[in-house]
Amino acid sequence: MSFTDTAIIGAGPYGLSLSAHLSAAGVVHQILGQPMRAWINFMPPGMLLRSEAFASNLHAPLSGFTLEDYYRQKGMRYQPMGMELPLETFVDYARWFQSNLVEDIQAVDVVNLRRVDGHFQLALSDGRSLLARKVVIALGLKGFAQTPVALRGLPERYASHSALYGDLAWAQGKDVVIVGGGQSALGLAALLHEQGSRVHVLMREAGVIWHPRPQASRGILSRLARPDAGLGRGWRSLFLSEYPGLFHMLDQGRRKQIMERSYGASGAWWLRDRVVGKVKISFRTEVRSAAIDNDQVILRGISEDKESAVAADHVIAATGFKTDMRQHAFLSKEIVDAISVNSGLPELTSNFETKVRGLYVIGPASAHSFGPVMRFVYGARHAAPSVARHIAHSLKADARDGVWSSAEGHVLERTGE
Ligand SMILES: Cc1cc2nc3c(=O)[nH]c(=O)nc-3n(C[C@H](O)[C@H](O)[C@H](O)COP(=O)(O)OP(=O)(O)OC[C@H]3O[C@@H](n4cnc5c(N)ncnc54)[C@H](O)[C@@H]3O)c2cc1C
Repeated sequence: MSFTDTAIIGAGPYGLSLSAHLSAAGVVHQILGQPMRAWINFMPPGMLLRSEAFASNLHAPLSGFTLEDYYRQKGMRYQPMGMELPLETFVDYARWFQSNLVEDIQAVDVVNLRRVDGHFQLALSDGRSLLARKVVIALGLKGFAQTPVALRGLPERYASHSALYGDLAWAQGKDVVIVGGGQSALGLAALLHEQGSRVHVLMREAGVIWHPRPQASRGILSRLARPDAGLGRGWRSLFLSEYPGLFHMLDQGRRKQIMERSYGASGAWWLRDRVVGKVKISFRTEVRSAAIDNDQVILRGISEDKESAVAADHVIAATGFKTDMRQHAFLSKEIVDAISVNSGLPELTSNFETKVRGLYVIGPASAHSFGPVMRFVYGARHAAPSVARHIAHSLKADARDGVWSSAEGHVLERTGE
C-alpha cells in the first residue's frame, strides 16, 4: 500500500490547478484521474468555449501560465474578450500547463474511498491502493447529469444526455430532437445541423436569451456602470465572480435563491448566427411523455398551450446537472452520509472542507457553498490557492502537534508487490 499526504481525485482544470498550488506549498501529493477527460471525451469536437478567454485560465501559483501566455508561446493572436476559443486549443493549453506545473499524474479512477484509522484509503481501478491524510474531490460534473422524468427509461439508442458527447458522427443524416434552451442545447444544435443532422430544439422558455458580443473597448463610464468580471458584466456578476468567500457567508436560503436565479439558460454571442434561421426551435414547449414506435422516439407534450407530438430518431436531453454526492458510487456510505446534507449537496467550510475532517470538495460540486463561479473554470482561481493553503497549514499543525510526520514518499506501488 502506498502513502501520500494528499490525494487529489480528478485531473480537470480544478485538480490540475490545485496540484500546481500544492507543489508550490511543498505538500507531498498524488493526483489521480485521466487528465481533462471530461473535455476530451464528453464535449463535442469543434465546440467553442462559452467562457471568455480571460476567464478560462487554469490557476498557477506563479506567473507565466495563463491562456494568454500559452497563446504568446505558440505565436497565436490572443484577445481577452470576444475571442473564439476552440475546445481543442483549451485542452492543449491544459496539457501545456500540466507538463510545466503538475508532477506525476496517475491516469486511473478511484473505485472506492473510505476512512480507515483516521486516514483515507483509496482503491484504484488498476488494483493498487493508496493511503492519504487528506483527500480533495475534484470530479467536475461527473455523475450529476439531470434528465427529465419523461425521458428516463428510454433505451440508450433513442435517448441520451448532452453530458455524453463526444463525437457526433453517429447522428449524421438523422432526425434529432434536443430538449433544453441553454448553451449545451444550442451548441449541440449548431454542431449537429452543420454536420447534416435534422435538428429540432424543444425549450420551455419563450425565447432564447443571447449574450451580446462584448465590445473590445469601452469608456470609463460604461466600465464603471457594468464592470467586467469572470462570469459576465455587471456588479452582481463581479460579486459572484470575485467574492465566493462572501457568498459562503450568506445564509442557506439566500444562497439557494441566488443559485436558482443566476445564469439561467442562455446562448453565447458566437452561436446566434449558427442557430437563428437554421435550426428549428419550438418555444414554450414541455415534454410530458415519450415512447418508442416504429423505430422512432415519439415525444408528447404541450407546445404553445396546445398538445403536440414530435417524432425523431434520437432525443438528447440538454437539461443540465444537479449536484448529488450520492451519485459518486466510489464513496463509502459512511462518507456520503457524513458529508451530504440537503439531498446530496455537500456542506463545506470556508476552506472547502466537508464535515469529514481532511476531505475537501472543489469545482462544480462546491457551487452551492461558494456560488455559481464554481461551475466554471474561473472558480479555480479561488478554490486552488485556498485549499492548498489550508492543507499545507493543517499538515504542518498536525506534524507540530505530533499527530503524524510528513509523508516520506508517495510513489504508487502495485498491491502485493
Ligand atoms: C458542454 C460543456 C461546456 C462547458 N463549457 C465551459 C466553458 O466554456 N467555460 C467554463 O469555465 N466551464 C465550462 N463548462 C463547465 C466545466 O466543464 C467545469 O466547470 C469544469 O470542467 C470543472 O472542472 P473540474 O476540474 O472540476 O472537473 P472536470 O473537468 O470535469 O474533470 C474531472 C476529472 O475527474 C476525473 N475523474 C472522473 N472520475 C474519476 C474517478 N472515479 N477517479 C479519479 N478521477 C476521476 C476525470 O478523469 C477528470 O480528470 C462546460 C461544461 C459542459 C458540460
